[in-house]
Amino acid sequence: MKKCTCGQMMELNLRTLFFSKKESITHVPVNVCEDCGVYELLPCIKQEVVNYVTSVKAGQSGGEISLTDLYEPAALLKEILSGPLEDSFQLPEKCKDLIGEHINMLLDLYRFAKSEGDGDWMADINERLEAMTVFLKSIQPSSDIYAS
Ligand SMILES: [Zn+2]
Repeated sequence: MKKCTCGQMMELNLRTLFFSKKESITHVPVNVCEDCGVYELLPCIKQEVVNYVTSVKAGQSGGEISLTDLYEPAALLKEILSGPLEDSFQLPEKCKDLIGEHINMLLDLYRFAKSEGDGDWMADINERLEAMTVFLKSIQPSSDIYAS
């Protein structure tokens, strides 16, 4: 969570980004200020979005794509936002729980891949773990980081 320049706390949400007339990416995690209507990409998502836009410009078919297909934490965020939420302050807490569960699941999977001696699979799981960890860090309120 982040403070807007107007002083309001920004809220985590999902937005559709249009980067040309025909191409858009849905379910992009952003920080939004409800007061100013300003939103900004989460820093950890920027590279993923840039990679995608570059690949489209390089000739891959564009159209509309959901970031949840490219970036696992966006899928988890979508799942949380589609469920019941009492208020937006619950969101970081819910993310922490759900992503924590997924990290544990991936760690189990990693151990299994390791026992199978599957190096490619291990590398793939490692990347997914890293994406989850970075995402989790970037959405926690800063006070929480110091408290825990
Ligand atoms: Zn604002």
